[in-house]
Amino acid sequence: SSSQSLTSATELSELLAEVFGYQQFRDGQQAVMDAALQGRDSLVLMPTGGGKSLCYQLPAIAQTGLTLVISPLLSLMQDQVDALNTMGIAAAALHSGLAPEQSLQVLRQLQQGQLKLLYVSPERALQTSFIERLSSLSVGLLAVDEAHCISQWGHDFRPEYGQLGQLRQVLPNTPVMALTATADAATQHDIQQRLALQQPLVHRSSFDRPNIRYLVEEKYKPVKQLRDYVRKQRGAAGIVYCGSRKKVEELAERLQQDGVRAAAYHAGLPHELKETTLRNFVRDDVDVVVATVAFGMGINKPNVRFVVHFDVPRSIEAYYQETGRAGRDGIAAEAVLFYEQSDAAWIRRMIEEHDNEERRRVEVQKFNAMQAMAESQTCRRLVLLNYFNEYRHEPCGNCDICIDPPKQYDGSVDAQKALSCVYRVGQQFGIHHVIDVLRGSRSQRLQELKHDQLSTFAIGKEQSHEYWLSVIRQLIHRGLLIQNIQRHAALQLTEEARPVLRGEQTLMLAQPRINLVANKARVTD
Ligand code: ADP
Ligand code: ZN
Repeated sequence: SSSQSLTSATELSELLAEVFGYQQFRDGQQAVMDAALQGRDSLVLMPTGGGKSLCYQLPAIAQTGLTLVISPLLSLMQDQVDALNTMGIAAAALHSGLAPEQSLQVLRQLQQGQLKLLYVSPERALQTSFIERLSSLSVGLLAVDEAHCISQWGHDFRPEYGQLGQLRQVLPNTPVMALTATADAATQHDIQQRLALQQPLVHRSSFDRPNIRYLVEEKYKPVKQLRDYVRKQRGAAGIVYCGSRKKVEELAERLQQDGVRAAAYHAGLPHELKETTLRNFVRDDVDVVVATVAFGMGINKPNVRFVVHFDVPRSIEAYYQETGRAGRDGIAAEAVLFYEQSDAAWIRRMIEEHDNEERRRVEVQKFNAMQAMAESQTCRRLVLLNYFNEYRHEPCGNCDICIDPPKQYDGSVDAQKALSCVYRVGQQFGIHHVIDVLRGSRSQRLQELKHDQLSTFAIGKEQSHEYWLSVIRQLIHRGLLIQNIQRHAALQLTEEARPVLRGEQTLMLAQPRINLVANKARVTD
């Protein structure tokens, strides 16, 4: 690049203070900037809120050429452009949301060399007319934000991102800076390959978000659990992710009925509505957004106090990125995962339906890791950081496992009650029915079936429904029971159940972890 005189460390620090008003660089920023100014490619892995944008903004200001920033989200581009313009820096954005005359004006500024930074959407950047124009410009840096969108195994895959390598061919001497907050080893590899990064500087900040408390709550009455949880938050800002558009709308409505300022967000809603929701959320006019994964990338809201996953995500990357939207201001925040084994089994079946062999393999691996984290008996944070190759040994003290370690107890008697009840109902009924019998439900259905006359009727009445749900799930987990999918998920005994049922074998179970997060007073029956 043509700006060697400006690359010294002191000068960068001066610019940092002068333009941005910051006293010092954060971990990694300076090394990444130096690399860019020396014409070297880089791969920047920093958690959300870690300060990625500065890594290309400051070199952009320091050098004479243009810095081209590829960014997938219009709102994010516009935010950054506005912020830069306010600081007196010549920046503009080019994307499909602009009116023709606005586009023309940006192109004119570009041609006249008036811009330091140009933000471009990938589809715009790949248009032939734009690529042709590029070769006539002096481009000092190509920054690819949210670079994980390049990986087709990733949860945010965007096909146009896959073609960004083309820009590299037009700009053979321009260093590329790829930035992301979420990349496991496979995704990193994809980024390097697809952008043809040449011996890049790889910077990885610690991915730990110490102010986020990770909690996993077993799903039993998920809607009620969610409503209780949100009520307890008393108007704090939060995001609830769930797996389908239909559920998004239903849950948003339930929360609204509870008097919560909630809104729904998913890709099927009209553009204006989505924009309004985003704006209201950022302005604190909406407290809770119930959303699919379509909501999130680029939300610039520091005071999100909680992120709930109503359904288990498909990878730790997705989970980590979504939970990472909580607590960007550094103040305590919570990430709650509602988890149920049968959800996981369902997702696994979907993944296994992929006809692309490699894709199936990668997705199964990613999901295995996610499931292991949800079912982990050790510190959640250790599991998460470990997944991103950040090895720690000390439990964090700020996750459900650390706060309330799982307790084992002799569950033989509970197991015998549940197993014999499964046997008594002829191995023809599902979990909830078996629990109704155990707890002595007075329902008409039970009377019609004469299940209120069974010897196991009401033998577990002293425990709650959720308690038995946890016990039975563990029995399934441990292979003593199966759910017959061909017969409406009827519970059936396996060979493993025999010795326990006959009292020949002790069975240790994990103390049901119910009500860790939600209000304890709830289960009183
Ligand atoms: P990311 O893109 O990694 O999610 P941002 O670039 O949006 O993060 O930065 C998060 C916040 O940190 C922004 O408000 C930014 O201005 C601020 N920031 C970045 N670098 C520094 C620094 N060196 N000193 C102080 N604040 C910084
Ligand atoms: Zn922990």
